Amino acid sequence: MNPRERFLAALDLADVDRPPAFYQHLGGARWVLQHSGTTMREGFGSAEAFVRICLSSRSVFGYDNVMAGWGDLLVEAHAHGTEWKFPERDFYPRVARFAVLEPSDVDRLEPVDPMDDEHWSVPLRAASLLGERLGGEAAVVGGIISPFFMAAQMRGFENLLMDAFTDRSMVERMIEVALRSSMMFADHAVEAGMEAVFIDDSTATGQLVSPEMAADLDIANLRPLISRMRDNGIRTIVHNDAMTPYLDLQASASPTCLHFCNSYVDVAATVEGMRGRMCLMPGIDHQELMFRKTPEEIEAAVWSVSDIYGDAPGLIIAPGCELPFKTPMENITRLREACERLRR
Ligand SMILES: [Zn+2]
Repeated sequence: MNPRERFLAALDLADVDRPPAFYQHLGGARWVLQHSGTTMREGFGSAEAFVRICLSSRSVFGYDNVMAGWGDLLVEAHAHGTEWKFPERDFYPRVARFAVLEPSDVDRLEPVDPMDDEHWSVPLRAASLLGERLGGEAAVVGGIISPFFMAAQMRGFENLLMDAFTDRSMVERMIEVALRSSMMFADHAVEAGMEAVFIDDSTATGQLVSPEMAADLDIANLRPLISRMRDNGIRTIVHNDAMTPYLDLQASASPTCLHFCNSYVDVAATVEGMRGRMCLMPGIDHQELMFRKTPEEIEAAVWSVSDIYGDAPGLIIAPGCELPFKTPMENITRLREACERLRR
């Protein structure tokens, strides 16, 4: 099996020769940027530069997919009016000013076609190019944040949560705009040849919201997005690396795959409850393990996950989230090598 076949087969609960290794966002960015001779800033503005960076991630680490979508978590909100600033060193932008500062700003919010936005269109255009250049060698995965998460990036999280108590309709309007833009993304994703889309929904957590609020505001808007992707023939990977994640609620929206951080869940119980219903990506802790520990400890963690999961189809090994910028190269490659040693 080549990496693309392996990755898609695991998502589809079919047999694989070994568990695929999932590469998220721009993990271990230091090595990737160095190899590509390209800056993040260039990648934000140009599909060609973005493609160079993505192809470098594949050459340097050899994971089974490339990812046309970065972990800034801002590009969608920026398209809706949130202003950003880039730090002096080459890294992701941060919020300079939210799109919605007061309730009346909500009336000015409009859904945005991602292809009409200078920055949001970049990963979509890059995905088409990646499909051509990779020639089916590695899976092309797109990325987006969930509608609830997107609304939070337009308003600021604390403000959004306060609004939910004082002016619920305002919150619903922001999420509705986010959902309508996301639906356009889902349609362009299929044209761009994305074979799966990673949806960051790490906002569905007991640390931020009650289960009722997560169900009504987050999952209720995640569900139609997942359905649209499914109707378009695109697989979905729902990501939630929060502590106390509402994985059952997210599973009820029927994504192709659920991705969580092993440090924050009971891995055995989660696998027991969900194996066979959908693909699972148990995440090797990206901060404590991948960033700080040794290759041997990474390999032991991969084996432990594989032992818990057993021989059933539908396992993909991943870091818990985007790997920190300076994650040691030997740790990143060891995760892939450990997967290779699990070959049947
Ligand atoms: Zn994450």
